[in-house]
Amino acid sequence: MKNIKKREKMYFYSFLLAFLPFFILILSLSVKGGVGERKDIANVYSHKENCDMKIALTFDDGPHGVKTAVILDILKKYSVPATFFVLGENAEKHPEIIKREIKEGHEIGNHTYSHLAISEKNISGMRDEIIKTENSVYEITEYRPKLFRPPEGRCNENIASIAASLDYSVILWNIDTRDWAHTSRDCIVDMVLNNIESGDIVLFHDAVSGKSNTADALEIIIPKLKEKGYIFVTVSELLES
Ligand SMILES: [Zn+2]
Repeated sequence: MKNIKKREKMYFYSFLLAFLPFFILILSLSVKGGVGERKDIANVYSHKENCDMKIALTFDDGPHGVKTAVILDILKKYSVPATFFVLGENAEKHPEIIKREIKEGHEIGNHTYSHLAISEKNISGMRDEIIKTENSVYEITEYRPKLFRPPEGRCNENIASIAASLDYSVILWNIDTRDWAHTSRDCIVDMVLNNIESGDIVLFHDAVSGKSNTADALEIIIPKLKEKGYIFVTVSELLES
């Protein structure tokens, strides 16, 4: 009986010894995974897989003193929540619009303070602008954005890493209406209706210099998408679904 117990113990220890390098490898990989680059890259989204008929409308560069209110009126009319990626400098100029966006169930994302052009030279400036914008939005709403959209959607590992270190997800898009380029109403409508699928993130702008056809296009797009059974959600809701 004693010998059997001894033999069992020996088998147990030799088993441990044989698999020790394997355990150490697993442990080191899991520690690396917690802080490594993979997490940063996994933090970047342009759409969401497998989310039944849900889509997210996003609006960049605002708030604009006139145009944002027109878009908010349309979203309110159809009870559609959206996500606004705001510039800190515009948020400070129009705090009442930021408050309205929150009050009406929309989400605020961070789009830098001054639409900072991204290059390797100003990578630390990017960090400062994200923080400055977050503080501006917080002062107005007591709400801290968790979504970051880099100007022009330019994202590399450094940007993703800065965003992750500040606890942000990076949100790009997979349908670009090109409404900032004074694209016609019908072209914007076609771009969305011909390409939309579940889980898509659509890029619009609520602040465009000169004439904007965004609002007119939304008046057609939203009822058509509702008819097709799409469900409008904020970007955070899309990612959680
Ligand atoms: Zn922008």
